[in-house]
Amino acid sequence: MPKSEGGLGIRNLQARNMGLILSAAWRIAEKPNSFLHDILKAKYFPSSSIWRPKPNTPKSAFWSSVLKVLPILLQNSWIQLCNGSSSIWSSPWFNGWENIYDNLILQNRDFNYPATINQLWIPGRKEWNYSLVDSLFLQPAAQAIKNTTIVPTEEDDILCWNLTPSGKCNSKSTYRACLQMLFDTGTPSPDQVQESIKNIMKQVWRCKEMIPRIKTFAWRLLRRALATGDRASQFSRHIDKVCSRCGIPETDLHLFFLCPFAKAAWFLPLLFVKTEMLVANFPDISHIILDLLAQGHPTLNLNFLFTFL
Ligand SMILES: [Zn+2]
Repeated sequence: MPKSEGGLGIRNLQARNMGLILSAAWRIAEKPNSFLHDILKAKYFPSSSIWRPKPNTPKSAFWSSVLKVLPILLQNSWIQLCNGSSSIWSSPWFNGWENIYDNLILQNRDFNYPATINQLWIPGRKEWNYSLVDSLFLQPAAQAIKNTTIVPTEEDDILCWNLTPSGKCNSKSTYRACLQMLFDTGTPSPDQVQESIKNIMKQVWRCKEMIPRIKTFAWRLLRRALATGDRASQFSRHIDKVCSRCGIPETDLHLFFLCPFAKAAWFLPLLFVKTEMLVANFPDISHIILDLLAQGHPTLNLNFLFTFL
């Protein structure tokens, strides 16, 4: 999970790998004049485009990876129509384009089907030729086409990416899209982290005075990942469940706040914190820490607190 969500900011490698392939697929789709595009076209989509690859051909490892992410690419890409020179049949240019052939009304045998999108416009103008569109496509596809915006410039049509404000694909957005897809298709997503913990961890990661070792300690304490006796003894019978000082189960609360030794440390001069009171009011460590910070104690800043613990 990202640090802002209470995680350690370590990326999911599977999503990272898929994301990079998705970025590569985007570059192939966006730059139909590139060398790589020419090679792939010759082999995998000679009479079409990357959006309609030939099925069932022997594939290279790279191309079969691209095919796996193609649905995500298609779902998040769209073409901004400028001069309308893109192909009607092999570019994703309106909502529902994937099923264009199912919505086609077959014409007489000698009918010449238009090839590029601008052939569906009124000649010389940037407006849909309603009667032509209606005679070629079934509803609701015809309506979707007529609702598609045309930009009044003479540039080439532009491939746009839905997941960034700029409309350009980047590896951060492809990573996120792939991670989401993994979660949607069964990879268990991490538990939601309490807001109080996220808030403290945001301050911890930002804190310049705190050394890294203390930062990761803070994370482990708040995310209940410290190997206290109570926790670690669940995994091995060689580990004592109880506190070596007083024989009570060694939980986070006991170790840091309730053990007589811990209590004595908290009650040292300059601190004078009565930890039983804290634990009685806030049974959760993140809330105890937030309360200590909110008290405005001159010594108890974030760095001191976690270093002290
Ligand atoms: Zn103890």
